[in-house]
Amino acid sequence: MSAEVKTKKFVVVGGGIAGVTCAEQLASQFPSDEIVLITAAPLIKAVTNFKQISRTLEDFNVEEQPISVLEEKYPNLKVVQSAVRKLQGAQHTLQTEDGREFHYDKLCICSGGRPKLLTEDNPYVLGIRDTDSAQDFQKRLSKAKRIIVVGNGGIALELVYEVEGCEVIWVIKDKAIGNTFFDGGAAQFLIPSLQADKAERAGPCKRTRYTTEDASPTYSRAGVREERSIPSTGSALGPDWHADMTLQGAQQVSHKVHVEYRCEVQMIYTSEEHLLRASGQSPETGCMPPADSGPWPVFVQLKNGKTYGCDFIVSATGVIPNTGPFLSGNSFVLAEDLGLSVDDHMRTSVANVYAAGDVCTACWETSALWQQMRLWTQARQMGWHAARCIAADVLDEPIDLDFCFELFTHITKFFNYKVVLLGKFNAQGLGQDHELLVRCSPGAEYVKVVLAEGRMVGAVLIGETDLEETFENLMLNRMDLTAYKDELLNPNIDIEDYFD
Ligand code: FAD
Repeated sequence: MSAEVKTKKFVVVGGGIAGVTCAEQLASQFPSDEIVLITAAPLIKAVTNFKQISRTLEDFNVEEQPISVLEEKYPNLKVVQSAVRKLQGAQHTLQTEDGREFHYDKLCICSGGRPKLLTEDNPYVLGIRDTDSAQDFQKRLSKAKRIIVVGNGGIALELVYEVEGCEVIWVIKDKAIGNTFFDGGAAQFLIPSLQADKAERAGPCKRTRYTTEDASPTYSRAGVREERSIPSTGSALGPDWHADMTLQGAQQVSHKVHVEYRCEVQMIYTSEEHLLRASGQSPETGCMPPADSGPWPVFVQLKNGKTYGCDFIVSATGVIPNTGPFLSGNSFVLAEDLGLSVDDHMRTSVANVYAAGDVCTACWETSALWQQMRLWTQARQMGWHAARCIAADVLDEPIDLDFCFELFTHITKFFNYKVVLLGKFNAQGLGQDHELLVRCSPGAEYVKVVLAEGRMVGAVLIGETDLEETFENLMLNRMDLTAYKDELLNPNIDIEDYFD
């Protein structure tokens, strides 16, 4: 007589890249078990056309899809559209906003993050996170003459470059732009692109891209186009989120960006408060709005004493992990950045609860060449690894950390240049103990290599350098390059052949 097979119930929370990847992997690995994906948004983000370019570099498209697509693909996968309200870890249950309760054997939380706003509840301060907030931004921009962008990460970099027809005051706390991704040298290389009139847009962008609602509308299960309801917590946007959007302000200028370096926002005032301050015998220093541009609805006072009026402020100062509904009554260990702390099996500190993507913080002893950054590639890798770890735990099998966590790799595009970041590209954590090699040809390429103890540990490649695969191999092989240092960036040497 055959023993009764007890089915497992896996629940994944979050329809972003991490959650969908995890749920799909579980659904195909456990075809006889039930997988439930609970997500607050009406659309899910699916990874398509995945390509492994080299040992650690990968490329894929991300598409917004109706939830029915997933259910059609995996008969054992059910998608529930409702936000999780509460987790009762001890009972292995989750409650959703629509009043339902779900039991799980294994749970993976992939609820992403939300923008860290300068201030909550100020109608003039907006964050960009999902399709709806991006569309709100676009709408407000169309009537704007001047906006203030605060932050120095990827979103701010893309915004200041893409916005046209509107003056941009860019407030960064660092001494160079793009500090999250590269150093002062690379910033110098990119700055002329900000000042120049934007050339004709380059041909089709080679980088994979997200589609926004315009390109990928919502369909009901009957195939009828639906009006979207506004989700309170949609998935994060990703690369090229602005490609199908016109980011055009109300002025006839192409590109007008002024950077305030080493600066932070001190106070935000409404126009009434600003008038009171001005008439209250406290003369403002710095740049006042020009008399002909009309009154600004909001004013920002910076810590350097300057005050700028503007139409609205974009707060692009990072994300906070979306842990809210899961914490109460459970003993999750949180990392310093408030993410759910996970080990190398993507396990949180609560039994049978895993986490992946922007919501979690990698707290294992990471490889010397890898660091966590809240990026879409890492969301996919973590979602996939979490599913494999859940499977290994269920099947009582050993599992190693996936090879993708050996070397940090990120391919993106800034100011229309291809940008590849490898390893400790900014000499993160190396102190003074490193050497930099740089090759730069203005307007064409910028190559920086970080060497530590004669070995390549990081690189920034801007432009069509074609060096990524060779450098990736040199880093992974830990080759001693002391003897080749002078040749490494010699433009007359074919480096690929050299190390063949
Ligand atoms: P998310 O995509 O945020 O998904 C979270 C999911 O959880 C959503 O479906 C949400 O609805 C759901 N959810 C949240 N709370 C609940 C709840 N209580 N109950 C149920 N469901 C819930 N990365 C790059 O690599 N390159 C880039 O160029 C880039 N550009 C970006 C530009 C913008 C404007 C933004 C906002 C992000 C960008 N990123 C970029 C970052 C990247 O998009 C994220 O790191 C990645 O998408 C995170 O995926 P995730 O699955 O962890 O979270």
